[in-house]
Amino acid sequence: MIFTTSWDDGHPCDERLAAMLDHYGLAGTFYIPIKNQEGRQVMDALAMRELDRRFEIGSHTLDHAYLTKLTAEQCDFQILAGKHQLEDILGHNVGGFCYPGGKFNADVRESVINAQFVYARGISNFWLNSGIDSFNIPTTIQFYPHSRQVLWRNFIKHGHYSERFPAFKSVAVGMNWLSAMKNLVEAQSETERVIHIWGHSWEIEDNNLWSQLDDFLNFVSELNPVTCRLDELRSHNKWSNEK
Ligand SMILES: [Zn+2]
Repeated sequence: MIFTTSWDDGHPCDERLAAMLDHYGLAGTFYIPIKNQEGRQVMDALAMRELDRRFEIGSHTLDHAYLTKLTAEQCDFQILAGKHQLEDILGHNVGGFCYPGGKFNADVRESVINAQFVYARGISNFWLNSGIDSFNIPTTIQFYPHSRQVLWRNFIKHGHYSERFPAFKSVAVGMNWLSAMKNLVEAQSETERVIHIWGHSWEIEDNNLWSQLDDFLNFVSELNPVTCRLDELRSHNKWSNEK
């Protein structure tokens, strides 16, 4: 099993999350906007540089902007300024991008490619590989106790049903969300498939899920997975059909 995690929004609670990943020797990627138009706090430049020493940092636009609602010019600006300001802070190139709210269309995707990003992460769940499009890298499951209705909606919306059904089934039929997630991971522990957990540290804080996260990461680490950041996934698990 290849185990990766990704965390959106650059909230200061990312530091607590990063310390937990470090403790269990697990890798991760953090997608950080420069500021958040929804009013949520974003970590300062010093904290970003500290995180960058141990994890991958990717861009999440300048203002956490929902790109499909913008004009073409505003969309290009959000993508480019978010990338360049993050690169100025970190002092190196940033190749990873994540669409705020998972919202994108063909024009937005094109704009991300033109900005010289290497890949973009989306929010299609229930995948056990890195998908078929490096500008819509899917995930396996969000670290959050979603209702069955929300899980169904994500399953229906993103197609590729036969490929995604096994992971969907393990999570959607479980009585307890955390044991269902553990079962999902354990079922893949002897395979070469990818488990990609994503989430928001602010959401873990707001819903008091830290002990569950600690429990889950401990469980995963005991399965001894290969662990890598999203930008390293390419070498472990070829991204196919790159367009
Ligand atoms: Zn976000």
